[in-house]
Amino acid sequence: MRKAATVMLIIFIFTILKANACTILIYHKVGDNRTPSTNVSIERFKEQMQYLIENNYRIMPLKELVNLIEKRKNLPKKCVVITFDDGYRSVFKNAFPIIKRYKIPATVFLPTEAIEKHYPDYLTMKQIKIMQQYNIDFQSHSYSHPHFTNPPKGLTKEKYKAWIKNDLKKSIEFFEKYLGYKPYAFAIPYGDYNKTVIESAKELGFKAILTQDATALNKNTPLWLLPRQPILGKYWSTMKHFKEILNETYLDVKKRIPDIGDTAQPSIIGGIVNGIDRYKPNSFKVYCSQYGWIKANTKGNLVFIKAPKLTKRVQRVGIMALKKNGKVAKTLWMIVVE
Ligand SMILES: [Zn+2]
Repeated sequence: MRKAATVMLIIFIFTILKANACTILIYHKVGDNRTPSTNVSIERFKEQMQYLIENNYRIMPLKELVNLIEKRKNLPKKCVVITFDDGYRSVFKNAFPIIKRYKIPATVFLPTEAIEKHYPDYLTMKQIKIMQQYNIDFQSHSYSHPHFTNPPKGLTKEKYKAWIKNDLKKSIEFFEKYLGYKPYAFAIPYGDYNKTVIESAKELGFKAILTQDATALNKNTPLWLLPRQPILGKYWSTMKHFKEILNETYLDVKKRIPDIGDTAQPSIIGGIVNGIDRYKPNSFKVYCSQYGWIKANTKGNLVFIKAPKLTKRVQRVGIMALKKNGKVAKTLWMIVVE
């Protein structure tokens, strides 16, 4: 009996440690040179889709990835999900012909006010309905695309939550009214979140919540904090960057220090890492937006730096390390220093 338990434990540890990574890509505009910082050229977009196909990446619908993570099933070895934020018209004009031709599934996150009020740069309902026929799925990117951690001044805690929920509810209503279903996934505008934003989205029934924390993920990543890699602008749309991020993997953490969202000035930054032996011992670094990557200390499973004074209110923090096979493993999250 004890032997069986030991074998089960070994299998359990093995499956946790053997977690394949998957990368969710975010695009915004495609072939729209008016705003280079959020754009990728048509040629580059096509080159990237061809690269994924030629190198045998499994390009899966977001829904399939969410189902696998929900059931804690292993992810395919080379796995990518394509998403577009904001529902720009250039996606229909310039990206859709390519993904249609290669039969690539994708999810578009709509800030529904822009669609409902027919803003000129955004998809029309007719375009949305056409794309739906080709494995393109539409989910929520809020109603008015606000900075959720920067609400109108003077709101109490309850009123703050009501303010977030009111916006998300209007977005859900749009989907029910015009598309006939309730969205299950929510991409946070600007990737700007704290605990209240996550809680509000969960309470309204969103099963998958997507950030812009630029890392890969694996089956242990929480569904309410799915990181994505932005592909845009001068540097982040290059093939060099594209290949680099596809090679990265996710760093499993048991505890984030400080945890996501509101925090007082922390004394250390870092986390408790699962399976710390998988990484090269001296390769750990800790990140905060204000100071960049800093070489970290380890103590048992704890990876940390002594926190420098944080004067930027909203910032990203994280941990990275090199795996023994040489791959870069990373995790990032947002904190709000009050
Ligand atoms: Zn957006």
